[in-house]
Amino acid sequence: MARVRKFGKPNLFITFTCNIKWKEITDTLLLGQTAKDRLELITCVFNLKLDALLKDIKDGVLGNVIAKIWVIEFQKRSLPHTHILLILDEASKLRTVEDYNSMVSAEIPDPIHHPKAYKTVTSCMVHGPCGPDFLNAQCMEQGKCKKRYLGSFSEETCCDVDGYPEYRRRQTRTFVDPKTQCVVDNWWIVPYNLHLATKYHAHINMEICSSIFAFNHLYKYVYKGPNRVTVVVERWVDTPSQENNPQAVITNVEWQNHDEIKAYLEGRYISTSEASWRLFSFRMHDGTPSVTRLAMHELGMHMVVYNDNANIFETVNNEQNQKTTLTEYFQANIDYPLARVVTYMDFPSVFTWTNGTKKWTIR
Ligand SMILES: [Zn+2]
Repeated sequence: MARVRKFGKPNLFITFTCNIKWKEITDTLLLGQTAKDRLELITCVFNLKLDALLKDIKDGVLGNVIAKIWVIEFQKRSLPHTHILLILDEASKLRTVEDYNSMVSAEIPDPIHHPKAYKTVTSCMVHGPCGPDFLNAQCMEQGKCKKRYLGSFSEETCCDVDGYPEYRRRQTRTFVDPKTQCVVDNWWIVPYNLHLATKYHAHINMEICSSIFAFNHLYKYVYKGPNRVTVVVERWVDTPSQENNPQAVITNVEWQNHDEIKAYLEGRYISTSEASWRLFSFRMHDGTPSVTRLAMHELGMHMVVYNDNANIFETVNNEQNQKTTLTEYFQANIDYPLARVVTYMDFPSVFTWTNGTKKWTIR
């Protein structure tokens, strides 16, 4: 949020998903293997592609980016994907319908002029199928697609009341999706950027954030935290009457001694692809420019990190461990007259925090 306070709301939102059909993956598989057998390969290739995409963004393919954040996500059993929020400088900001159309398209590309983008969009950027013939589709709610696909064709891009751009979807071309045998027209296309769809053969959705409402939604999405599970630990006992039943039952005595609170443990759900990503110690999120995380706590109620073998009391009582960005903000107010006219939130723009010495010094 510090970046948004300084640079303004994000302008572009990108979702980039790993594609197991990338040549780098398929060419490396051994005889009889499928990509799902090689999670380490999937995660390594995706990490390299993400680096390439972040470099492209840094080099200005989408305009001059003054701040960005990105987060890696793993849904249960699915492939790694990343969400990227970008803030553009004044000269690169999108203002006109022409700017919008040049940055994001929601139409099937011309197969003659843009064959690579055509291949990407027709194989990776098709929503659904949903609609009246597919009422059980995940996106269908009360007979409507909650992701706002399936409207009427429109000649021009415009903004709706919630600040969501309604991208131009002209009645130009169609194709038959080989996976579903459905005829796909421009209403099924997930918005994309032509340059990125040409270069990265993957699901690479790009949206324009045009209002603060959209931005709030995106930040919640980016920071919504990991999936969690609740597991129950119980002792199962075979009984003679259940000989033919492969499932065992808990005896009455055990039920009476059963402590529900003790038995439930909350845990994080980690998919196999996330486990593989973490084994390689690949980054989970990042942002530029860097920000100083400010501690917020009551007196003596701050977090102290200690190693497994350390003496907890010694660690907690260590003088350096008593210092946080907040306690030292008060100390800086005693030491520097300048500090007294800067709020805690704005402190990192005037003072620098050094973690080693636990001190604020004037920039
Ligand atoms: Zn839908």
